[in-house]
Parts: sequence; structure tokens; C-alpha cells
Amino acid sequence: MDKRVTELAEKVEAKLKEKFAKIDRTALTNTERLLEIYRENRVSANMFAGTSGYGYDDLGRDTFEKIFAEAMGTEKAIVRNNFVNGTHAIATAMFACLRPGDILLAATGVPYDTLQSAIGLTGDYPGSMKYYGVGYDEVPLFENGEPDLETIKAKAADKRVKCVEIQRSRGYANRPTLSVQKIGEICDIVHAVNPEAKVVVDNCYGEFVQEIEPTMVGADLVAGSLIKNPGGGLIATGGYVAGKAELVDAAAMRLSVPGIGGECGSYEGGYRLHFQGFMNAPHIVAQALKTVIFCAGMLEELGYKASPASGEERYDIIQSVELGKPELLEKFCRGIQFASPVDSYVTPIPWDMPGYEDQVIMAAGTFVQGASIELSCDGPMREPYTAFMQGGLNYELGKLGVMNAIDMLLK
Ligand SMILES: *Cc1c(COP(=O)(O)O)cnc(C)c1O
Repeated sequence: MDKRVTELAEKVEAKLKEKFAKIDRTALTNTERLLEIYRENRVSANMFAGTSGYGYDDLGRDTFEKIFAEAMGTEKAIVRNNFVNGTHAIATAMFACLRPGDILLAATGVPYDTLQSAIGLTGDYPGSMKYYGVGYDEVPLFENGEPDLETIKAKAADKRVKCVEIQRSRGYANRPTLSVQKIGEICDIVHAVNPEAKVVVDNCYGEFVQEIEPTMVGADLVAGSLIKNPGGGLIATGGYVAGKAELVDAAAMRLSVPGIGGECGSYEGGYRLHFQGFMNAPHIVAQALKTVIFCAGMLEELGYKASPASGEERYDIIQSVELGKPELLEKFCRGIQFASPVDSYVTPIPWDMPGYEDQVIMAAGTFVQGASIELSCDGPMREPYTAFMQGGLNYELGKLGVMNAIDMLLK
């Protein structure tokens, strides 16, 4: 590796000392909170056993869901491998709050790409909200990415609005991530003007970044993916919905079938990795945060624009960097791939992907396929050639990935 890279790494790490210490404190607080919950629920190896068939009275599943709900500071949760991904869990949560004739209000601009077909904004699929006669309205974010509270208040007052969606993380959009405190403000506004409306938060990439979760500040439901933050890198698939018991039950009826709800659903693979991954999640999130902040710091030193900047407050684990040239985006992704413990010999190349306007390049050498809590990086091949990077199961591996990517940039 180029000596400039190793020297720069030392300099950047020294600068980030305070930041890293703050991340460690958050991880400690969240770990302590989880430990207390594990102890109170008397977690024990007999809960790790798998089940088969219908899965009635599945001790591991039921205990894990209770723990998950308590960690989110709320009443109930369904945490299932039967959710195929985060999109499925989030859409299920929204469906639980909506009937024909109701309106879904997106409070923070258009929802994440993959949710758009579930709503009926793209494609024309049977079973979408539009198909069932659910209307849609939207409050765009301000130019600076802040939510437009006045317009949210005005639109949420419409009594036909029964569900208000908030996206916590920036995802792959050019907007800042919302703090949990800001989400709480939106919840208060919505509930004040329309007590019937439920607030559903797309919680992806935000879990355990702060010491509180949206369900602690007024959100009725949160939903997300288990191959991101809450799985701690160990849970192999699935999603979760947590919040008010009545709504979680409605989501369970939608996930399986009315009358059965969450009572069925077995998992022969067993739950050890669920309990273990979730317990580790606050620590793993800290590792991912350090990795992306280190990346931002390194690239800033080299004159690139990182968002958020290395010194900025963080509310999710996503980092974007403008590399400015197609060949630099390609080199950066190749460096990340090269330093991955899995598929290091593979060369990422830009490709046409379904659902994307431009070619996309993706680097991901992950143990769990597509797990973006593991170090991964991608970007659309268009101006300003921005790389979106996230994850890192441990800081050492993340740091090496970033250093290799930068080494590749300098070549
Ligand atoms: C990842 C993500 C989702 C869900 O994505 P899946 O790939 O379906 O798990 C939804 N919203 C945001 C903001 C995300 O980052």
C-alpha cells in the first residue's frame, strides 16, 4: 500500500479520537440497556432451538420478539424470517394502518425506491395500495433536506389520512438523515391534528445509532431489515415490525393470514444467531459508524466532498462521497471489493440494473448475501459520481477496506 495512505490514516484517526469515544459511549449505553432486557427475560440456551411445522408456542421466537419490543421501548414486535426483506416489513406496517379510501401521507418526500411499487407509484402491480383504493399524498423535503413541518401539519389534518410515513435514513437520496428527536416532533404534530392517523417509521440503517428509537418518541410503528443494523451481522434474513400491540397484530395478520397472525411461523434453523446478533448490534453499529467516519475523514484530506462530513453529527450508518469522475468511482469500488474477506478476487463493473436509469456499480464481499451492515459500496454511473458506502462488521476490516479503496484511487 502507498505510504501516503498509511500516514494519512494515522493523521485522520488522531483527529477523530473524540468522535470515536462518543460512538463508544453510545454503544455502551445501548449494550447496557439490551443486557438488562436479556437478563430480565432470563434468556437461556433452550430458547435457541429451532422449531418446525406450524410453530405454535415457539419459545425462542416469542421471547426474541418480546426482547425486541422492549429494546424499541414499545409494546409488541413481530421479528420474522418470513419477511423477505425490509421493504416487505415496512409495506406490511403501512398496510396494517390503511383501508380502502384512506390516504397514505409520505411526510419526508417520496419513500425509498422499493416501496414505491408497493404504494402504486411505479409499476401497476396487483396488491399495491393503489390497487386496493388507498390514496397517496406527499410532503417534499425543503431544499436543505429538512422536513416541512407546516405543510405536514396542514396535510395530516385531512381526516382521510390514516397513515403518515417517515423515512429516518437518507437511504440513497441526497438528503440529511433525521434525528430521532426530529421524528418525535413530526409525530407530535401529526397526532395533535389527527389523532386517528398512525405514524410508521422506515427505521432502516438508524437502529442503535442513537440511544433512543422512534417508538420512544411517539411513532406508532417502526419497521426494518434484519440484515442491516439490528441483526448485528449474524441474522441471515428477515425483517421486523414493532410498536403499538393492536397495530403489530394487524401487521401480523397481513404478513400471514387473518385469524392466524403471529401465532404461526417456525424456523428450523434456530434462534441462537438472532439472540446473539441482536445483543451485538449496538457494538456492530459502532464499528460501522467508525468505518464510515474514517472514510469521510480520509477523503476530505484528499479534497473530496463527503456527506455527512467527518465532523458532523450522525444519525445513520450511510456515507456518501463525490468522486467526480467515472473512473474514480470504479477504482474506489474495486478497492473495497479487493479488501473484502469474501469474493475479494471479483472485479466490480458498472452494469444495467432493473429499476435504475443509469448503470450502477456495486462492491460487496459479504458473508450474508447483500447484507449492508457489512462493508459495501455502490453508486450510479452519473454526475457527480457519488459512492454510497455503509457497514463494516469490525473497524479493522472497515479501515483496511477504506485504505485499499483510497490506495486504488491514488494509483
Ligand atoms: C434498505 C432500506 C429499505 C429496505 O430495503 P430492503 O432491501 O428491502 O431490505 C427501506 N428503506 C430504506 C431507507 C433503506 O435503506
